[in-house]
Amino acid sequence: MRSPEDELAELDAASLRRTLRPVDSPQQPESIIYQKEVTSFASNDYLGLATHPALRQAATEAIETWGTGSGASRLITGSLNPHRQLEEFIAKAKKTESAITFANGYTTSVGTLSALLEKGDTVILDKLSHASLVDGARLSGATIRVFPHNNLDKLERLLQSTSQSAEPNRRTLIVTESVFSMDGDLAPLREIVALKEKYHALLLVDEAHALGIYGSHGMGLAEQLGCSAGIDFHMGTLGKSAGSAGGYIAGSKAFIDLIVNKARSFIYSTAAPPAQAAASLAALKLIQSGEGAALREKLWSNLRLFSELTDSPRPESAIIPWLVGDSQKALDLSNQLLDQHSILAPAVRYPTVPRNTARLRITITAAHSEKNITQLCEILNSLA
Ligand SMILES: *Cc1c(COP(=O)(O)O)cnc(C)c1O
Repeated sequence: MRSPEDELAELDAASLRRTLRPVDSPQQPESIIYQKEVTSFASNDYLGLATHPALRQAATEAIETWGTGSGASRLITGSLNPHRQLEEFIAKAKKTESAITFANGYTTSVGTLSALLEKGDTVILDKLSHASLVDGARLSGATIRVFPHNNLDKLERLLQSTSQSAEPNRRTLIVTESVFSMDGDLAPLREIVALKEKYHALLLVDEAHALGIYGSHGMGLAEQLGCSAGIDFHMGTLGKSAGSAGGYIAGSKAFIDLIVNKARSFIYSTAAPPAQAAASLAALKLIQSGEGAALREKLWSNLRLFSELTDSPRPESAIIPWLVGDSQKALDLSNQLLDQHSILAPAVRYPTVPRNTARLRITITAAHSEKNITQLCEILNSLA
């Protein structure tokens, strides 16, 4: 039998071994990592809400009122008030009939895709779709088709060939992210909506990295582009810019009811703690408020500063891929930044990104100061 030590040694040899860093501070730019003060450019807490007083208060009050645990799966113990309030708010914000939340985004993807699709159906994914979407597609048993990243011609050809061979009862689901998690670029959502309508397919858009950042109410890229009504399944996580945890799907009442009935990661898992739902609701309210708009403005001004100081194109999102290529070189660079400059900019390697495209994944948030950004840019410029 193969030993775990041998497998780990193989990962080491390929510069693909991962380790966990000890952090002894809250989730914020000024972090204590390996007992040392560092500035973190690693978090997806894009608006700095994970330590916001309004979320802390909502979570604390919910613990006082509802306790810590939720007891069982919601199909067993029922839906606690904080979960219901959160879902009503999400459905309203997304202008859909209904919404359902899961304990996190990963289980939302896996549960939803495997609930919606079965053998004989077809799921058409962007090549750079998140691992959770790929895993859900695989688990569903549906036929998986992949189009090159953001390639509308290829997507249309796949839709054509699928619609020619599909039987009447079969579902075809297009899956994309709105902001891609490792490249930070945007999907052409309006064009994808037009294609899904032309070929009578369904469309799921994962707004994990767009919630809180785009749109007049901060509800995501679809809101900004005005194409929300063409999306059948609005997906996202509450663990990134919402500073809490959880995943959601918003859509028609019938489809959400179907997901409740068939998503195994919903049915066979204890509901998230009520305090998590309460913090998520406080976050969404904040994102929609004037304070949320001001935090978005701060985030975009930080991103503009980064592009000016590094003489690079204006980022399209809060995610900046600093491409290196080789896994070991990306690791060395990340370690050098941490050891010599007290900056956390994590190396991202295969299989998170394609082979030979290892990179630093730099994320900028509204919580970074101009000084944080200036320091980062000076160091990156000195390395170039
Ligand atoms: C992070 C992420 C998820 C998973 O969400 P979690 O709440 O972290 O489990 C799903 N999809 C995309 C695109 C993501 O980036």
